[in-house]
Amino acid sequence: MTTPTNCCSVCGGVTKSAGVVDFNKSGADWFEGQRQFPVSDEVVGFRRCGACGFMFTPYFDDWSEADFKARVYNADYVLADPPFLVERPTRLAAYLSGVLGDALGEVSLLDFGAGEGRMVDELRGFGLVHGTVYDPYHADSPLPESRHELVTAFEVVEHVPDQGALFDQLCGLVAPGGLLLLSTLLQPEDIDTIGAAWWYACPRNGHLAFHTADSLASLLETRGFKLLSLSTELHIASRGPSRLLRLFQEAEQSLEVSGASASGPSPPRAD
Ligand SMILES: [Zn+2]
Repeated sequence: MTTPTNCCSVCGGVTKSAGVVDFNKSGADWFEGQRQFPVSDEVVGFRRCGACGFMFTPYFDDWSEADFKARVYNADYVLADPPFLVERPTRLAAYLSGVLGDALGEVSLLDFGAGEGRMVDELRGFGLVHGTVYDPYHADSPLPESRHELVTAFEVVEHVPDQGALFDQLCGLVAPGGLLLLSTLLQPEDIDTIGAAWWYACPRNGHLAFHTADSLASLLETRGFKLLSLSTELHIASRGPSRLLRLFQEAEQSLEVSGASASGPSPPRAD
């Protein structure tokens, strides 16, 4: 029987089990070719919507912010996601600086889920003047009330249980004529076969929600935004044409965010 908890929060569709994994499965297991944390006693079950394809686990639904800080975003978090502290924010800053060019000095940027705020710090070095960071688990900063021409949310979406509330927040923070630039890895074509065994479905990283192009577009469209995916992991959402949209569309730079490129990860060691 399908309980309300197990209905798809994006489209209300019926979901089925997509398999279970150990709580301590981390994304770095895949890149390092071996487990980074010991096997735990906790089994995390994932479900997938038969209509829009959204995949999620309700495992974290009743966790408080304190639970997440204690058990996921703690001192060992960097072992689950080594590029988190320096490598990824540095790469993101170089990409944004390259795409925005002269507009960097004028744009108002909010980095939502900014971690320690390093990307914005780096961008200031490239000429960013109006930069704000927000992260409930890392940077000590309140949710801004003002809207911004560019809202970035890199590797945020897959961490948030309440997707509706998240997209209400993100879309509400985008100024008229602005855009939302977000990264989250879309499900691979063989997701029906691999389910929760997909490397990105890693509870120790706090990864709990995974989109298809359909489910992501649906969340955005109901909030007046159109989805344009630049790659399987980098996505733009906008209400219509704008100068920033043009810059991203015309950019020749590409960006790897999660490290999921074909050349990136080493094959996982069988265990
Ligand atoms: Zn659905």
